[in-house]
Amino acid sequence: MINNLQLLFENYQRCTLCPRKCGVNRSNGQTGYCGETDQLRISSVGAHFGEEPPISGSNGSGTVFFSGCSLKCYYCQNYQISFAGLGSHFSCEQVADKIKELVDSNNIHNVNFVTPDHFLPHTIRIVELLREKNISLPILYNTSGYQKLAAVKALENYADIYLPDFKYADPILAKELSKAEDYPERALNSLIEMVRQKGFMDSFTEKKTIATKGVMVRHLILPDQVQNSKDVLMTLFLEFGKNIPISLMSQYYPPEDLIDSAAFGEYKFLNRNITLPEFEEVYEHALKLGLRNMFVQFPQDFRSKKDKTDFVPDFIKDKPFQR
Ligand code: SF4
Repeated sequence: MINNLQLLFENYQRCTLCPRKCGVNRSNGQTGYCGETDQLRISSVGAHFGEEPPISGSNGSGTVFFSGCSLKCYYCQNYQISFAGLGSHFSCEQVADKIKELVDSNNIHNVNFVTPDHFLPHTIRIVELLREKNISLPILYNTSGYQKLAAVKALENYADIYLPDFKYADPILAKELSKAEDYPERALNSLIEMVRQKGFMDSFTEKKTIATKGVMVRHLILPDQVQNSKDVLMTLFLEFGKNIPISLMSQYYPPEDLIDSAAFGEYKFLNRNITLPEFEEVYEHALKLGLRNMFVQFPQDFRSKKDKTDFVPDFIKDKPFQR
């Protein structure tokens, strides 16, 4: 992939932007696995306070949620936009204008592209437009981890912070739940490149209150999949050592629209929250490995909240994460 905007947009004509390599002509209105043409669709732009503290800070993170997804996990926590197609067409200029409004109204701490891989050329154009408006906020790519190495390389001059998931160490599980047997290998190779570019997140390395640069990995513990989580942590430890910044999340909830659907079928174990013993086994494993730069979302913190909307968005609302 050549880091030239026009050439990047030509990728839509025979799309191989992500590892699915569908080869469809999105510029002619065709859609591949992600479900999107080359017409940018966005489900939400707003200030979000539910990210980790150095990302959300006190003013919020300027999240841009892209419609569609190139991974589409069965248990997707944002199923309304990844599966159900929620969203509206936007131009890059309109997105940049909305971000400018958030800068003026909220003084947001960063621009946070959520699951943007299938619209990567558009994200680069949006960053260019923001720079033209003299908006120099950190640009954050919040990704599924299922990326082509070339795509991550193309972002080097446009990204400041990477917040990738590392969902699976087990290729069989990755195949069953996300139809992506190559996920562990892809995610690790992408992560190595991200760390090469930006290092570890500076809220840890330089004790900054608000992150401005670097990488933090997110891992969502799934019900009945403790061994996968332990293997993910071991993989990260072996590759990057004990200082790798990790956000260990326990907020999994079964997406209501997918429960009992045919897609869930044999994966009934996904039809519940994680248990406290499951969480504790994973957390203790992290401590035994000596992982020291962690944000940990304890299950009791999450479940004691009466209002879970910091974690469970409703994209039908104007403000999906309204507190
Ligand atoms: S971005 Fe979409 S169309 Fe392109 S390769 Fe990936 S899933 Fe297929």
